[in-house]
Amino acid sequence: MQLADNLVSIQARMAAACGRVGRDPAGVQLMAVSKGQPPAMVRAAADLGLTLFGENKVQEGKAKVSMSPGRLHWHLIGHLQTNKCRDAVHFFELIQSVDSLHLAEEIDKAAARVGKRMPVLLEVNIAGESSKFGLRPEVLVEEMLKINALKRVEIHGLMTLAPWTPDTEKVRPLFRRLRELKLACEEALGATLPHLSMGMSGDFEVAVEEGATIVRIGTALFGPRGRAGAAGVGMGDPAKEG
Ligand SMILES: *Cc1c(COP(=O)(O)O)cnc(C)c1O
Repeated sequence: MQLADNLVSIQARMAAACGRVGRDPAGVQLMAVSKGQPPAMVRAAADLGLTLFGENKVQEGKAKVSMSPGRLHWHLIGHLQTNKCRDAVHFFELIQSVDSLHLAEEIDKAAARVGKRMPVLLEVNIAGESSKFGLRPEVLVEEMLKINALKRVEIHGLMTLAPWTPDTEKVRPLFRRLRELKLACEEALGATLPHLSMGMSGDFEVAVEEGATIVRIGTALFGPRGRAGAAGVGMGDPAKEG
């Protein structure tokens, strides 16, 4: 089966990347990014032993979370609109895409309403691309301290999306920068942050070499995604959701 073969190959490449830099492979989690894939695909991946899943839209994610085996862990990895914080807090175990203080404040309120604390990662716009969301590296520590003061939001680390490039060596300095930013945050907090979420299908090996603790992989695992996958579970136009 294609999915099983893809998984074996990704795991071997992750292990080889760990080997090159002397890391323990147990320190890197493989997140299956199931956006654009039907719930049957999630079940097939879960049957192969995958437990961590990522969705980039609240609407699409909540439908799949509800239809999937209960032992799976779901993270939101896409931009979150403030009017969807309630659902995001309810359906996801962690929100990786906190990209502003304002959003963090809304998550804090939504979490307070249901009496829980919400684990989050702060998304950093590491290359300063105008097309991407994320906190600017220059203001990260300052914003992080304000977000950390919110009672219901727990910061667990940083996340980034590198620019796409066929030459993955070009993204190495960006991943390295994110790791350094995590150190700066840890110093300011006086506490360690467990997670660095970086690396996707095209660049996960470099990310692992540079210290990723979560790699987020969609197409290399599931193959190409499309409207078909999302439409199959009756979710309307994915482009309009957030
Ligand atoms: C889609 C997506 C991924 C996975 O991308 P692939 O290139 O298919 O592996 C990872 N992270 C985020 C935030 C995404 O939206």
